[in-house]
Amino acid sequence: MIRFEHVTKRYADGTTAVDGLSFEVAEGELVTLVGPSGCGKTTTMKMVNRLTEPTEGRIFLDGDDISTIDPVRLRRRIGYVIQQVGLFPHRTVLENTATVPHLLGWKRAKARARAAELLDLVGLDPSVHGGRYPEQLSGGQRQRVGVARALAADPPVLLMDEPFGAVDPVVREHLQNEFLKLQEQVRKTILFVTHDIEEAVRLGDRIAVYGQGSIEQFDTPAAVLGAPANAYVADFVGADRALKRLAVTPVEASDLDHPPVVRLDDPLSGAADRLRAEAARWAVVLDGDGRPHGWLTADDAPTGSKGTVRDRTRRMEASLPLGAPLKQALAALLQHDAGWIAVTDGADGSGRYLGVLTPARLHEALRRSIGADGRSVPRAEVAVESAAGVTGTATG
Ligand code: ADP
Ligand code: MG
Repeated sequence: MIRFEHVTKRYADGTTAVDGLSFEVAEGELVTLVGPSGCGKTTTMKMVNRLTEPTEGRIFLDGDDISTIDPVRLRRRIGYVIQQVGLFPHRTVLENTATVPHLLGWKRAKARARAAELLDLVGLDPSVHGGRYPEQLSGGQRQRVGVARALAADPPVLLMDEPFGAVDPVVREHLQNEFLKLQEQVRKTILFVTHDIEEAVRLGDRIAVYGQGSIEQFDTPAAVLGAPANAYVADFVGADRALKRLAVTPVEASDLDHPPVVRLDDPLSGAADRLRAEAARWAVVLDGDGRPHGWLTADDAPTGSKGTVRDRTRRMEASLPLGAPLKQALAALLQHDAGWIAVTDGADGSGRYLGVLTPARLHEALRRSIGADGRSVPRAEVAVESAAGVTGTATG
């Protein structure tokens, strides 16, 4: 979708801001450009929408050499969000959001309807915030308006230059999470500039780590953290890169243990026999829909017990979806006393049981994450065992 071919930018004063840059961004991909101040990130962005021209090399958008496209037309295909947002102070939030549709000559009603739709999408109520002026908003709300405005004409490409740089860390994390959800819906091709490696890792499908005017490594977050290309990248991502990596390494089906499984409505005596036959100290209890409900210990089910499993089950509400990051798994294990956490095939509370993650297996997964060649398994390729296949399988 966006392709740089040997692009160099030397400013009039002789500063080489970008030197022989080549990379490609796929359609629907979010690439973060990360590096220290002055390394050429903003220059890279400005060349994409022709706010500045390369000295050498070519840039392609969807196969077209952008130097052959009229800049005004080019910019209609590209939304641009900057740190200073740049909202017009004397226009309302709704009018600000409708700026580009207006420029494109949309009818007023259509432009305003689109703006309202976009405000809603970024989590602002158009009937509450639409009539306000920028100074009446918080920093985080202004950033959202900036994103809404950039999306208003539905451009396939977004350039975002430190869009969340001016807000405090708590608001920033919130905006990042919302932005990721938004991107799942709109699937734009995005170049996102940040100087914050945490932000780059959290948001990027891939990360371009900038040195001085050139890219030192261009790869997935897991690869950059797991196998830095050189000492510069290793230093930039930080000594705690192994810990950061936990945030981008998913729990896989092969990390799970499979203790005995019983159902809430099973007779207790049968469950007791199963536990003894399998020499297991406890079993996972599932509800009628195959969702994890709790656990039952051997002591809770002495031989000859009356009633059903339901009478003796200890409730265990915590569960994780398969593919959740190891960091989340570690946090969940630390938070719950059971010493294990159920893993399901869907979001918390709604998924069917697949197996359990124990501290020992988590430890193995952590070692794997840190020691691996840097390529974690893409989520879609993580094998999902069916709940039926797991039921009744004994632990080793
Ligand atoms: P970043 O966004 O990574 O902080 P920039 O792309 O803004 O970096 O700047 C890269 C280098 O180019 C810096 O050394 C900066 O001082 C220089 N630079 C940026 N804009 C200009 C300009 N208009 N004229 C001269 N030098 C510039
Ligand atoms: Mg910059």
